[in-house]
Amino acid sequence: MTRVAVTGGAGYIGSHMCRRLAAHGHDVVVIDDLSGGHRDAVRWGPLRQCSLLDAPALSQALRDARCDAVIHFAGAIAVGESVADPLKYYAINFGGSLNLLQAMRDAGMRRLVFSSSAAIFGEPRQSFIDERHPIDPISPYGRGKAMVEQLLRDAAPAYGIDAVALRYFNAAGADPSAAIGESHDPETHLIPRLLRHVAGERGPIEIYGDDHATPDGTCIRDYVHVDDLCAAHLAALEHLDSHPGFHAFNLGNGNGYSVREVVAAVHAVTGKHVQARVAARRAGDPARLVACPDRARAVLGWHPATPSLEAIVETAWRWHRAPAY
Ligand code: UDP
Repeated sequence: MTRVAVTGGAGYIGSHMCRRLAAHGHDVVVIDDLSGGHRDAVRWGPLRQCSLLDAPALSQALRDARCDAVIHFAGAIAVGESVADPLKYYAINFGGSLNLLQAMRDAGMRRLVFSSSAAIFGEPRQSFIDERHPIDPISPYGRGKAMVEQLLRDAAPAYGIDAVALRYFNAAGADPSAAIGESHDPETHLIPRLLRHVAGERGPIEIYGDDHATPDGTCIRDYVHVDDLCAAHLAALEHLDSHPGFHAFNLGNGNGYSVREVVAAVHAVTGKHVQARVAARRAGDPARLVACPDRARAVLGWHPATPSLEAIVETAWRWHRAPAY
């Protein structure tokens, strides 16, 4: 059994991670400032309310938590907003991670799993993005994530802080029991926006550009079930037991779906009509982002349990029909 500090544990992916850690017999301490997360999503361990930007408080929180490892989710998440407000993204995502590493050093903690992103790759140079793809982000969000990865690469030999960066493609879906789910304010992500629309909570959906270099002109993404992402984090923690240093894995199903295909999946699952209109492209959006997940499969033994887009949307829809927060 391990005792794990989860930054951003009140958020979407973080709360699913806490649930999975507890189910596998691990102890959890949530570190979250509740700026984006939800108090009601903290159910599997105590909450230490603390901002990553408050370095002394963070350092104290980690010392008090007495954990063996950190899983680091806390951060700002909207690519479009990062283009409009880069300072916010560098401060929270890079500055916050810098403080976290310093606090881990102070607390003598030596294992970290970091939420990285496919956004570090920028415009893809190959159809299926593997770990050898050049890191060349095109948004401040992606650049901030890439900078944290560089920090971790340097910190491993210098301080003996071993780390795994997991580059998520598009996290989606919810816990099948619908106890927790995805709830952002404002909501920028495609699937929850579509589900709020068909639930009558918001107006028509805007499709950001139908003139991309893809078969139907809309952007292609690789949607991964949130619980499958969490399974990879557990495997990554175990990997660090026998493999010190810095490691990185791309986490996707290797299947790409266009925005129009996601609209069709939402219609198929909910039986409801989607009103969508084409709008301008969103700044910082590559046309296609699809993973080659071979390395995560081979090295971590990661085999997603819910790869089907409709099954992913179905779990998200269960949550959206009766969200608890
Ligand atoms: N998208 C869209 N309309 C929306 C929200 C998103 O067309 O209201 C598109 C977006 O341009 C991207 C895809 O849907 O190509 C997935 O976007 P999301 O924000 O969910 O995730 P991201 O790919 O930015 O991580």
